[in-house]
Amino acid sequence: MSQSDCLFCRIVAGEIPSEKVYEDDLVTAFKDINPAAPVHVLVVPKKHITSLAHVEEEDRALLGHVVLTLSRIAASQGLDGRGYRLVVNTGDEGGQTVGHIHFHLLGGRRMGWPPG
Ligand code: AMP
Ligand code: ZN
Repeated sequence: MSQSDCLFCRIVAGEIPSEKVYEDDLVTAFKDINPAAPVHVLVVPKKHITSLAHVEEEDRALLGHVVLTLSRIAASQGLDGRGYRLVVNTGDEGGQTVGHIHFHLLGGRRMGWPPG
């Protein structure tokens, strides 16, 4: 499943360093290298899925696990009582720049709306 030319597959494999905040069998979470908020964590399934538009029925349990994990990571980052935002940029106009599905967990400041 892992792709040698995929940045996040390489981070998952430990071939590229990252500041990991959580890891289990299915998911890795690490700090965004260019944070857009005081807390900016990327939660990444270890399985290479190109984007939300490429999710398949077989990924149902995996994505459920990602969502549960996200809320636990938010709590571990001190955000549970404050609030936070999840962002999944998808495709070109969605602003996706890395072709491995990832969930941005943003918090530690008040978020504006609409996003840019
Ligand atoms: P997106 O634009 O939604 O595809 O998000 C990609 C995110 O990956 C951006 O917020 C980048 O700052 C982040 N990023 C790129 N390279 C790295 C890296 N080596 N380690 C951690 N985060 C990265
Ligand atoms: Zn990948």
